[in-house]
Amino acid sequence: MEFFEQSDNNNWTPVTATGLAGYAVAALLVLWLAHGEYRWVFVLDSANLAFHEAGHPLFGMLNDRLTVYGGTLAQLLFPLAVLVSFYRQRATFSCAFAVLWLGDNLFNIAVYMADARTQVLPLVGNGEHDWTEIFSRWGVLQWDTGIAATVRLTGWLVVIGAGLWLGYRKLAEDA
Ligand SMILES: [Zn+2]
Repeated sequence: MEFFEQSDNNNWTPVTATGLAGYAVAALLVLWLAHGEYRWVFVLDSANLAFHEAGHPLFGMLNDRLTVYGGTLAQLLFPLAVLVSFYRQRATFSCAFAVLWLGDNLFNIAVYMADARTQVLPLVGNGEHDWTEIFSRWGVLQWDTGIAATVRLTGWLVVIGAGLWLGYRKLAEDA
């Protein structure tokens, strides 16, 4: 596959110390806000919500049963598409920020998942709770908070992983 065969260390945009610090600040801000009182990263999560709401009818067009998954799928597929595009351009920082965006979506999804049984979150749209429906279909509603914790942990790994990767790229350049 061309996508992977192209990995050539020399073509990546150079990592500067300022850029590395910039990622660290942005990642800490996202982590802080996503785990703060409102569990909401302003601007970014508003955009994520817009993608989420667009995803329901988009995937619904493919199949009715997909409608309920569409919101979450859009939240994951948009950052992944952006990541692939930046990866092909070897745009180092843009890749890291796309991964940070993906990580924030995982935090955002985890908040919604964990709410499946309690249903205290204010909902947009027709008020139907995606994760109550999805977890009920799967027969795992009682595990909502456990699954949410796993998704949240994945978000942490993704955000930290992108930072480590940037650091690795900097070391590889300096060597
Ligand atoms: Zn939804």
